Amino acid sequence: MNVALHPVYAPPRRRSGPGGVAGLALMLALAVTPVNPAGAAPAERGPIVDVHVHTAPSQYGLLADVLASTGVTRFVNLSGGVAGFGLEKALAAAEPFEGRIAVCANVRWRSYTDPDFAAEQVALLERGAALGARCLKIPKALGLGVPDPDDESRYMAVDDARLDPIWAAAGRLGLPVFIHTGDPKAFFEPLGPENERMDELGVHPEWSFADPKYPRRAELLAARDRVVARHRGTTFIGVHFGNNPEDPDYVAKLLADNPNLYVDLAARLPEIGRHDPSKIRALFERFADRILFGTDLGFHRGGIMLGSVGRERPRLIDVFWYYAVHFRWLERADRSMQHPTPIQGRWRIDGIGLSPETLAKVYRLNALKLLWGEDGPGPTDAEALELATGLAGFLD
Ligand SMILES: [Zn+2]
Repeated sequence: MNVALHPVYAPPRRRSGPGGVAGLALMLALAVTPVNPAGAAPAERGPIVDVHVHTAPSQYGLLADVLASTGVTRFVNLSGGVAGFGLEKALAAAEPFEGRIAVCANVRWRSYTDPDFAAEQVALLERGAALGARCLKIPKALGLGVPDPDDESRYMAVDDARLDPIWAAAGRLGLPVFIHTGDPKAFFEPLGPENERMDELGVHPEWSFADPKYPRRAELLAARDRVVARHRGTTFIGVHFGNNPEDPDYVAKLLADNPNLYVDLAARLPEIGRHDPSKIRALFERFADRILFGTDLGFHRGGIMLGSVGRERPRLIDVFWYYAVHFRWLERADRSMQHPTPIQGRWRIDGIGLSPETLAKVYRLNALKLLWGEDGPGPTDAEALELATGLAGFLD
């Protein structure tokens, strides 16, 4: 079959349909084909871990079922919250899923003026780890939003020495740090027809950091790199492909220089996929042990986010399409394919067709080792896939 003609590769346009449980069952049934672009059933592809998800405890059940139907048996919720401020709830809700949901703690940035800010955050992190948090997530607000308490006209630097105790504590507690620093290159360039991310910036002008009041992107990344180099005992995950998918040579050097650094793919296939696919494939093969599958799926009662947000709200079924495109890009060497986040730019990407060994690492083995301390998938993953097959075949 010529997969290039397969309807799944056009973004779903269906904007009305049945709701409720019957609707979900129908969507899952419809999803049987879309999730298998390479002809593999989820069980053949093997379980997948999505390390970059933002969701609320109330959505865990639905999301776990939906993701299992795509083959994703585990996910990491980066938006777990802070001990005493939501983290307990995020962890308690994950409990019944028998390890399928890992939860990251966050920093309470609003306390930045407290004289003992770092010490307080370390204490909160220790509590979070004791409660069961498996990681720490740092948002781009560090560098682009949290003021410097000494001079509020500036932003706190990503490598501000006052934060060092937090990075050291994460290392000591065995919590990998997902760190988001800066944003796409185009977000730092002037708004206007020349800006190739105008589709997105037109909807969200507040995402622009073109204003010189913001630190420049290269400065932000350099500060992040210094933190990673300074804390060798702490594992960092540079989210969004090290926040520099525009420059794969930079990412390769960063990974080569820092054995304590991983990167995830979240919301950056459109950028990574623009480069020479053989070069990207070589990068993946070289750093196969330190690249993690992640999507930046946002799943909340208020709406779904598929790597970005446009004017149109995605529907549940669009989630299946979103994952299918990721799988196709990683598994096949297809040329000029549509990327998973149309609003991020009007270009096409080239698939990288990874080897089965590298795919297994990127899809699950690296994440299982790093966040679960496990060597491979277990019975809960097998059960999740079995359940997914059952749901998908419900209306056959
Ligand atoms: Zn994210």
